[in-house]
Amino acid sequence: MKNKQSTISIVIPVFNEAANLSELLVRCLKTCNRMDRVFEIILVDDGSTDGSRDMIEAASNQYPGVIIGILLNRNYGQHAAIMAGFAQTKGGIIVTLDADLQNPPEEIIKLVQKAEEGFDVVGSVRVPRRDTLFRRVASRMVNKVVQMSTGITMHDYGCMLRAYRRHIVSAMMQCSERSTFIPVLANSFARHTAEVEVQHAERSAGDSKYSLWKLINLQFDLLTSMTTFPLRLLNVLGGIISAFGVGFGLFLLLMRLIYGAEWAASGVFTLFAILFIFIGAQFLAMGLLGEYIGRIYSDVRARPRYFVERIVGAGPRAHPVDVGAGPRACPSDDRRRKM
Ligand code: UDP
Ligand code: MG
Repeated sequence: MKNKQSTISIVIPVFNEAANLSELLVRCLKTCNRMDRVFEIILVDDGSTDGSRDMIEAASNQYPGVIIGILLNRNYGQHAAIMAGFAQTKGGIIVTLDADLQNPPEEIIKLVQKAEEGFDVVGSVRVPRRDTLFRRVASRMVNKVVQMSTGITMHDYGCMLRAYRRHIVSAMMQCSERSTFIPVLANSFARHTAEVEVQHAERSAGDSKYSLWKLINLQFDLLTSMTTFPLRLLNVLGGIISAFGVGFGLFLLLMRLIYGAEWAASGVFTLFAILFIFIGAQFLAMGLLGEYIGRIYSDVRARPRYFVERIVGAGPRAHPVDVGAGPRACPSDDRRRKM
């Protein structure tokens, strides 16, 4: 029975989360101990400047082989950080989680259970969602677009509390594009997906690491990483707009023939208005083209997505993991090596 249970890797990107880290680690360790499975917690320091780095190092020295710190040399963004974490994972089920305690670590159990039922990807839906109205509305729109273009009905692509089976993570690691949006990438390799409802808390400390600009960037990553459909849409849209333009021209000509030149001249401002719409559409189209070209450029350069400065605590487990929740029998190193 026991050997059927999966080994668990938890990947947490950390960017200036010193105020949340201690509680996060205690709650994660307690939860993992409760699951009674072999586990590892991989903390990826995404270029923090606030002491998170030292805390990660200290934690991985305290629990070597259990808490593993991957220290990136600078800030590469949440999704790059998670990919760095993935590269280090050994577990059969990989769970991602935010460091700010908005996703309660206790919910990991639910996700793992669901993944063990045989689902490739287990997403989660935040109920009730505790974010600003702007974030909630934006998020709902994005989810709709993603659902339409991936054909996979998941309701909350923004929630990073997710579980993936090993083969999905391996597939993702073979993808070399720089702008990744992990939940969408994962779904493109998944056959069976499921969702569970999870609690959502307000950010426990610190501010969101996403400014409006970073959010906009993320949405473009999402859009262009997912599909080239917008490019095709540009053709269709361009066709419709030109057809409309021709039709409108003919209409103006006709009216001019019937009512004379004055009629057409007084329509000059309408023309301006329409012109602006078309110019706008062109800029939009060019911008979108630019987005893809920019991404092609950075993929062609094929720079590494991140640079790992140091990995700490990756050695064998030294001693049982006791965080005061009642110590559990800890798997021996031999069992761990089989991971
Ligand atoms: N994060 C990161 N690098 C970044 C931005 C964020 O590793 O450049 C991490 C951050 O520490 C947190 C997670 O990504 O663990 C989600 O960030 P945040 O809570 O700020 O996002 P929000 O909840 O506002 O979407
Ligand atoms: Mg958050």
